[in-house]
Amino acid sequence: MSNSQNQEPAPHVALLPSSGMGHLTPFLRFAVSLAQQGVQITLITTHPTISLAESQTLSHFFSTFPHITPKQLNLLPLNNATCDNSEDPFYVKYEAIRLSSHLLKPLLSSLSPPLSALVTDMSLASTVIPVTQSLNLPNYILFTSSAQMLTLFVSFHATVGSKAPNNSDKTEDYFQTGLQSIPKSRIPPPLLSDTPNLLRTQIIENGKKMIQSDGILVNTFQTIEQDSLGALNDGKVVNGLPRVTAIGPFPPLGIERTQSVPWLDDQPDGSVLYVSFGSRTAMSREQIRELGDGLERSGCRFLWVVKEKKVDREDGGELGEVVGDGFMERVKERGLVVKNWVNQEEVMSHKAVGGFLSHCGWNSVSEAMWNGVPILAWPQHGDQKMNAVVVERIGMGLWAEAWGWGGGEVVVKGEEIAEKVRDVMGNELVKAKAKCVREEARRAVGDGGGSKKGLMEVIEIWKKSF
Ligand code: UDP
Ligand code: UDP
Repeated sequence: MSNSQNQEPAPHVALLPSSGMGHLTPFLRFAVSLAQQGVQITLITTHPTISLAESQTLSHFFSTFPHITPKQLNLLPLNNATCDNSEDPFYVKYEAIRLSSHLLKPLLSSLSPPLSALVTDMSLASTVIPVTQSLNLPNYILFTSSAQMLTLFVSFHATVGSKAPNNSDKTEDYFQTGLQSIPKSRIPPPLLSDTPNLLRTQIIENGKKMIQSDGILVNTFQTIEQDSLGALNDGKVVNGLPRVTAIGPFPPLGIERTQSVPWLDDQPDGSVLYVSFGSRTAMSREQIRELGDGLERSGCRFLWVVKEKKVDREDGGELGEVVGDGFMERVKERGLVVKNWVNQEEVMSHKAVGGFLSHCGWNSVSEAMWNGVPILAWPQHGDQKMNAVVVERIGMGLWAEAWGWGGGEVVVKGEEIAEKVRDVMGNELVKAKAKCVREEARRAVGDGGGSKKGLMEVIEIWKKSF
């Protein structure tokens, strides 16, 4: 090896995100962080994309970062028998990418200069790792959720077939994975279901296969998830896992895809609650009305992004009708309701925003951390309760755990929502903690920070395999 870093060739790394903005966004941020360190990047995009948000973001991204090379993977059509109609369209899309993974082989081997590694989304691990193995190409996983979720993801397969023990000392049932026991109420319900479903099958297959990857990179940082990261690396979750490296939180890209929300400029500092459940979570009309009632009763200022359909292209309902007659008129002095994509990076960094009612998608949590915005957690599905555990544990938010999962399990009443909104907006302790987390997040990815060191170590390994 050369002693001088400058004389080492720049490694060429390909990135393969999965579908949905929650998976695409961290890959784009990661791509930019790597490119800033001189890594040559090919970003593989899968077509067609499911949401309009993805296709628009990609076209802005490639025009803003022309040094990142796009490469398109055209997906094979899915056989209707593969997934039934009740499945989440994003999970169906993961399946489509998985079933097209063999098409990667000619694509990867044609890239020039030859690749040092492929970094794959965790939802594609079990079908992509065999491809990279056949090419003798190192395969890294980018885990786009919390390390807390990773502990469940990599150990869940080992519990399948074994009966989860009930803990008689506790009122709740617990689920044993590795060395941890997780309340069953926090496990995504499809994982506990006897009915076959995509989430369960894919987590089992991906979690098992990830042991054969060359490294797992997580969009988190030591100060907030030391215990989970330690347990993963000390073999306390599963044996034989490759090194798990925290490399986050990824800084925002700062590219404009949509116009800003000028309304925020007229609101007092820290006064606005931002309400959003991410890019792919639909809420029932009944729950939307109760949420509106809660926001109105809370007396707080708010910016609310309403979403009735999982896939943005299908979300055609007229806003006034969705939130109910007269609602927007009644709240117009202190509330803004929208039904379109907003630039959340920008909203979260606005000085008027003082709280975030969030489903706790990990990117939303990371953006709140980056900006020191307290969270009121209302997880809806998937990994979101595992992420809410982190939010609550580090003290930068409150979680009304009794509200349960979204999707009609229970309809949470406006009075309860109003009370929690007032709690979070007036909680000085949570505000102070959120500010500390902001500093720690920025320190982690700054020079000398733990995540920056983690990233540089991985790049060094790639340089050697060049
Ligand atoms: N997002 C946004 N505007 C919206 C909705 C979402 O910019 O109107 C972004 C948000 O900032 C985050 C991503 O989309 O980066 C959503 O990812 P997350 O993990 O929070 O949740 P998911 O959408 O995957 O459930
Ligand atoms: N996941 C997976 N296969 C699936 C569905 C989900 O591997 O069929 C993973 C997904 O990548 C995420 C976690 O399971 O880490 C939770 O799923 P979800 O898609 O709801 O999370 P999100 O994409 O909103 O972050």
